Amino acid sequence: AKSQGRGNFQFFSASMNAATHERLLLENRLWLALEQGEFELYLQPQVALDDLRIIGAEALLRWHHPELGLVGPDRFIPIAEESGLILPLGDWVLQQAVELLAGWRARGLGRLRLAVNLSARQCHGAGPLAQLDRLLAGAGIDPALLELEITESAAMQDPERSRLLLRELRARGIKVAIDDFGTGYSSLSYLKLFELDRIKIDRSFVKDIESDPNDAVIVEATIALAHSLGLAVVAEGVETAAQRDFLRAKGCEEAQGYLFARPMPALAFEALLQPLAKR
Ligand code: C2E
Ligand code: CA
Ligand code: CA
Ligand code: CA
Repeated sequence: AKSQGRGNFQFFSASMNAATHERLLLENRLWLALEQGEFELYLQPQVALDDLRIIGAEALLRWHHPELGLVGPDRFIPIAEESGLILPLGDWVLQQAVELLAGWRARGLGRLRLAVNLSARQCHGAGPLAQLDRLLAGAGIDPALLELEITESAAMQDPERSRLLLRELRARGIKVAIDDFGTGYSSLSYLKLFELDRIKIDRSFVKDIESDPNDAVIVEATIALAHSLGLAVVAEGVETAAQRDFLRAKGCEEAQGYLFARPMPALAFEALLQPLAKR
């Protein structure tokens, strides 16, 4: 029994495997979840590699599912994409992000940057521009503190539209980063086609920096390439001090990863900043 869509009765046969069962649990509740306030944005700190201060965070969605507990985005974003919920959910994420930035500003933490992920569907049509204009007009925050992360595969589904979207975002002062850089098929044409601010080196390259000489060369060359194009670099998935030291030595300015901190609720993130706020 495959889902027939929103609100339909589902028959759970005993033979249904666990994965299908979970998918139905997620699918059936997804639309309700937004109304019920079951989503939460976790924040993962991003640090400057020269002095390890926190310069901002990436917003990462979590779902408090009543039966399944805390569910990560890899399990529900694909379903949300297929069903179209990603559009209202993506709008909700942007709204939360702008509220967080406004709150930080009000508390004197107004220099922190917040990075938000955009899905492929959000890059279609008019994209999130109208929503962003509405949010930014009321919030009184510096648009440069908001960064949108777009993967190459999302942008390449409709390169011309994405190019215009990124241009419009940057015209508003919003920052744009390529997520998962190097994992797609057209990373170099992406650099040529799109106007960007930052490249995010994918965890798959960072992971084996110490053991795989090819990955070390690729990461070093990516940093150099980004810098010669005038782009900043943030490395993701940094888990060891050796990875951190390698990246710093190669001139990568920022990093994010379990070595520094895991994604956490906004209150926990803000608690990390308290000593800074009091200075
Ligand atoms: P991503 O944008 O590449 O996000 C980085 C993922 O790596 C996050 O997984 C993060 O928790 C994880 N991570 C960070 N540091 C480390 C590390 O040191 N080691 C390891 N092993 N993992 C690390 P998460 O939170 O499960 O998110 C998965 C993906 O879901 C994200 O990948 C992103 O593509 C998507 N996603 C998350 N939030 C949103 C959202 O609000 N909207 C959209 N469209 N997609 C989102
Ligand atoms: Ca991301
Ligand atoms: Ca990424
Ligand atoms: Ca990823």
